[in-house]
Amino acid sequence: MERSGVVDASSSTHAVLHTLSLGAFDLGEGFWLQRQRLNRKRSLEHGLAMLETAGNLDNLRNAASGGATFRGPVFMDSDVYKWLEAAAWELGRAPDPQLGRRVDEVIAIVAAAQTPDGYINSHVQVTDPSARWADLAHGHELYCIGHLVQAGIAMSRATGDEALLRIAKRAVGCANTIFGDGRRVDVPGHPEIESALVELYRHTGDRTHLQLATFFLDHRGHGLIRTGRFYEPAYYQDRMPVRDSSTIEGHAVRAVYLLSGVVDVYLETGERALLAAAQRQWDDMVEHKQYITGALGSRAGSESFGDPYELPAATAYAETCAAIGSVFWNWRLLLATGESRYADQIEWTLFNAVLCGIGLDGTSFSYENPLSSRGERPRESWFSCACCPPNVMRLLASLPHYVATGDARGVQVHQFATGTLTHGDIGLGVHTGYPWSETVSMEVRGAPEHEWELSLRLPAWCREPAVALNGTAVEPGNRNGYATMTRRWASGDVVVLTLPMPAHCIAGHPFIESTRSSVAVVRGPIVYCIEACDQPHAGADMTLTIDPDAALQSVWRPDLLGGATEVIGAGRAHPNQWNGLYRRFDDLSREHRTIELTAVPYFLWGNRDRGSMNVWIPIEGA
Ligand SMILES: [Zn+2]
Repeated sequence: MERSGVVDASSSTHAVLHTLSLGAFDLGEGFWLQRQRLNRKRSLEHGLAMLETAGNLDNLRNAASGGATFRGPVFMDSDVYKWLEAAAWELGRAPDPQLGRRVDEVIAIVAAAQTPDGYINSHVQVTDPSARWADLAHGHELYCIGHLVQAGIAMSRATGDEALLRIAKRAVGCANTIFGDGRRVDVPGHPEIESALVELYRHTGDRTHLQLATFFLDHRGHGLIRTGRFYEPAYYQDRMPVRDSSTIEGHAVRAVYLLSGVVDVYLETGERALLAAAQRQWDDMVEHKQYITGALGSRAGSESFGDPYELPAATAYAETCAAIGSVFWNWRLLLATGESRYADQIEWTLFNAVLCGIGLDGTSFSYENPLSSRGERPRESWFSCACCPPNVMRLLASLPHYVATGDARGVQVHQFATGTLTHGDIGLGVHTGYPWSETVSMEVRGAPEHEWELSLRLPAWCREPAVALNGTAVEPGNRNGYATMTRRWASGDVVVLTLPMPAHCIAGHPFIESTRSSVAVVRGPIVYCIEACDQPHAGADMTLTIDPDAALQSVWRPDLLGGATEVIGAGRAHPNQWNGLYRRFDDLSREHRTIELTAVPYFLWGNRDRGSMNVWIPIEGA
């Protein structure tokens, strides 16, 4: 049997696109391999050290030994599981005896913590074993099991080691004795297990897992969640039934994790009401509630979406996990519909809302991702609530999964990265300097005798994409935003996709306060920002404005932060004349200096000297 990656929609009845087997896309030297390698070499080791220091592993040890000390938030176990998932995908790609030993040790710690009936949650076991399933709204027991299931499946698929999956199945079995129709009717405060249960169904063929996932969706939004003092039902995604919802609201991570599960259940059952509800919420997100970076979540206090157009820049919450969850959700929507807008979202979110979550050292991480900073530290080595770092690790480790799909008809390329794609007899060598370079070259390295179709995403950000076959411009077909070419391909055929990416300025809707009279610089799929350290001639005490009509120049800088294209524009530096908050306008001097403004990719901000950073730049004279 062919092994799958994160999501196995290879035979999902209602999928329009089908996932490839594990390792079907192998990253080659380039942008993403650089990051995946750093993740393997630095982040994983750092992560394990932090799980030890922060007490995650001790909590599990204490659950096994009867120890009385528990450290950290109630969901500490989930960080261990996310780390295990990341390590699993890495081990599957290439063995590493040392990493393998550490993974075995951690799995042994998890195994020892599990009770004979399959229950596992170190917080409950250590602090009050009688409180099992007592606080479903805040306890995160099912949430943690969801992550355990995903890690167990990753180990099984990537390495063939079933030990963690056995633990996960026993934990699900334990939950199944409690919850379900005819048993306790209740739902968890933090979604996550829904998607995991669908994947367990795909992995094992056992329909009870799909039924339990559907059960949790069916009963959400009926007031079962006993909300705490601080939050409304919307925070827990419990304001209305899943199928009736039209607005994306509440805790952003909960929303996108839940919606991943909603589309997962649709992919297996074909229940249109689920897909329609997810698409309505997606529309609401992109039309009203998403940052230009793709980030989600405007309000820090409740980690939640705000009202329409409520998108503050400096206080943006924009949790890294919410961006990661958005990738998961959009991937499932892409599989369900085949529409390029979902793959566009994955690309934009990866570059601009996920990658900013990890520093170039591989050992510093951000939780919140503001679009403006006055020089605060952008990243930390870990957090007391450390959901984001291991989430970044598992996504980077499994990234090739999201590059392409395929079926008997052919292959569909969704993301552009250097590497090798293998699907049955089809072999494709992809070479590109993307996202800096405008061309993606694909060489057929193996082809079956019959016709097959090569589909390439045409990103919505690109106005004039061009396709050439063996050096000659061609007019391919277009389906759902993909250039499609069907022919009897021969080894050596070369397709070059050219995506012109002139830098340009983007304006925000006038209802968004933080973007008023400002523009952001964008080039291709990359959102830019200005950092103080790049404007030495502006002076430290200057306010900068940009001339949005001046030409923007793109300059490749191999020495800049691991290699990046910077964008240079024209602007002015105005002296800071403010001793208080407000002044008479006619007292302000019009004095200014004309300057060059240098913009760098937003995801790279905060990797040099600390200083101010802004995505939105005030317009000259506005
Ligand atoms: Zn997080």
